[in-house]
Order: sequence, then C-alpha cells, then structure tokens
Amino acid sequence: MPPTRLSRRTAAALASLATAAAAALTLTVAATPSSAAADCSGGYVGLTYDDGPNSGTTTALLNALTSAGLRATFFNIGQRVQQNSALARAQVSAGMWVGNHSWTHPHLPQMSSQQITSELTQTQQAIQQATGQTPRLFRPPYGETNATIRSIESQLGLTEVLWDVDSQDWNGASTSAIVQAAGRLQNGQVILMHDGYQTTIQAVPQIASNLASRNLCAGMISTSTGRAVAPDGGNPTTPPTTRPPTTPPTTTPPVTTPPPGGDGACRVGYTVSAWNTGLTASITITNTSSAAVNGWTLAFTLPSGQTITSGWNASYSPSSGAVTARNAAYNGSIAPSASVGIGFQATHTGNTGRPASFTLNGTACTVA
Ligand SMILES: [Zn+2]
Repeated sequence: MPPTRLSRRTAAALASLATAAAAALTLTVAATPSSAAADCSGGYVGLTYDDGPNSGTTTALLNALTSAGLRATFFNIGQRVQQNSALARAQVSAGMWVGNHSWTHPHLPQMSSQQITSELTQTQQAIQQATGQTPRLFRPPYGETNATIRSIESQLGLTEVLWDVDSQDWNGASTSAIVQAAGRLQNGQVILMHDGYQTTIQAVPQIASNLASRNLCAGMISTSTGRAVAPDGGNPTTPPTTRPPTTPPTTTPPVTTPPPGGDGACRVGYTVSAWNTGLTASITITNTSSAAVNGWTLAFTLPSGQTITSGWNASYSPSSGAVTARNAAYNGSIAPSASVGIGFQATHTGNTGRPASFTLNGTACTVA
C-alpha cells in the first residue's frame, strides 16, 4: 500500500487490518489447500494408486495427498473394497476418483470371458455399494489386456487406463526414485503407483512440489480418452470448472415451459471456461421435440485455433474445424424435454469464442 499521506495512526490501523486479512487468508488456504491459486498452465497429470484399499496404508496416503493438495485416482481391488468399505468411502470423501482394478487381481488373459466379466462386475457392484458411485475407469492387473478384455470393459461402460510412467514402487523403488519418476510426467500423462508402500506415501509432498514447479496440476482421468484432464476446480483462478460425472448421467428433469421461440428440435447451451492457452466447453443438449432421440450427433464448427484435446460423455471428431460429437453408449437416448450434458477440453491460440450454430442429427438447434 502507498506509504504517503497516511498518519501513523491510520498506517498502524491499516497494518493491523492487513495482518488480520493475511491471517484469515492463511486459514482459508489451509482449509482448501488444492484451490489456492494453483497455476495449472502446464496442464494436468494423473496420479494413480492401485491395489487398495488397505487398512495399513490408505488412511495415511489420503492424509498425505489432501495435505499436499493433490487429487488422485485409486484403482481398487473389489474384494478389498468389500472388506474395507469405509476406506473406499474415505477415498471419495477426500476428493479422490475411484476405478476398478478387478476382484482378485488375476492374470485376466488366462481367464474365460465369463470369469473376466465376473471379476469386473463384482468389483463394480462392491464399489457402488461402498461409495454410491459406479466406476467408469478400469485398469487391468499387470497392465495385461487383449481384445476380449477390452470388449467386456466396453460392455460395462469402462474405459481402460494403463500408464505412461511406472514409478516402480512395487519393485522396491526408493522414495526419491518415485519422485524422480513423477518428474518425468508430461501434460496428460498418467503415473502408476500403489496404495501399499510407505515409500510411496513419503513421496507425496515432493511430488506435489515437483509438479507445482512445472505448473502441472493433478487431474482426473478422462473417461473418453484415459488421459489426465482438469478436475472440477470450483475456483475461478484455475481453468476448468467442469468434470465428467463418475456415473453415467441421468437426464435432467423436463422443462415445465417450452422455451420462447423454441420451434427447433433441439436447444443447445454452451459455456466456455477459458484460460491463457486452453478452455473447457460444457454443452447441454435439450430435446425440444415431442419425440425421443435415439442415437445422436451434434455438429458444430469450432473457431479457428481451437483444438479439442479430450472430451467427456461423447466422442469428438475431428479435433478442430467442423466437429461432430457422437453420443456415448450410455447417453444415446434423449427423451422429449430431457437434456444430456457433454463437454471437452481444448487448446486455443487466442480465440476463445464459441461455435455460431449447432445441428442435432442434421437439424438446426436454437442456442440458449
Ligand atoms: Zn495391481
């Protein structure tokens, strides 16, 4: 503050106010460590912890992560969730995402289709019962996968997530080696770690420092791409404010009155959250016709310079120019007056504008 023209008394009063404000700010920051003006301009990485929950390590790991302001994805073993359901709930309460890592951690390629299906569905049910959320992400044990396994994943609405960087914590890596491995993560990449080792827990604070020094933030894993993307920041200083739901979305309640001038078959709401080099767009598609839509494509043209890097609740192709968004397996039907929410993250070169028009299955939509 400018020192001139202030009496000593005023200056002292202001200084004491500033101290109080700083104290209040400190309290706020301590309460929500992850939201304090994090610079995510370098992008997002996915921290993943497999093989929990474990009574010996999960609580300490969650404490380390929340203290460091980090969020992570836990690929849980179904039978351990059944045995430790409170710990699975604690993962979700701590802001973590929970994925499926099979029921017994077997070598899936050696199993029959029926056995594989059972491994995955039992785990889906156990996690649903423990947390109220049905996983959308699956990591096959040992990273072993094949066409049969992928087909079963797809039938269950699961996206397979492997990894870009292996921390080797399972192989006796030291804390510093785990930190170094995390230091190799680039925007969008995912690191394999485990809920079960003290070395892994002890690495958390240094992983947080390393990521912060590179303007990287811990993100969630996209159910469309299996890549790390922005989580729900809930903070205007962090770029994205939307994230895909962890369970297939239910349609929103019907609107009670038809929109003014809503003679089209559809209405589109489009919200952009932009930062210096990227943006997220949240799109709400409402079926304003009297007939159900079964299977849909939404076509629009992105402003030049915008390129989609990941999306949720729909597939997007191509990634720039005239884009077609196609429904996911679980949201292809839109009842009359119902809506579905989709969205994507994109890079931009300065133009953060929105498409001028949208067509749903070839019919122009009104834009909300
Ligand atoms: Zn595992």
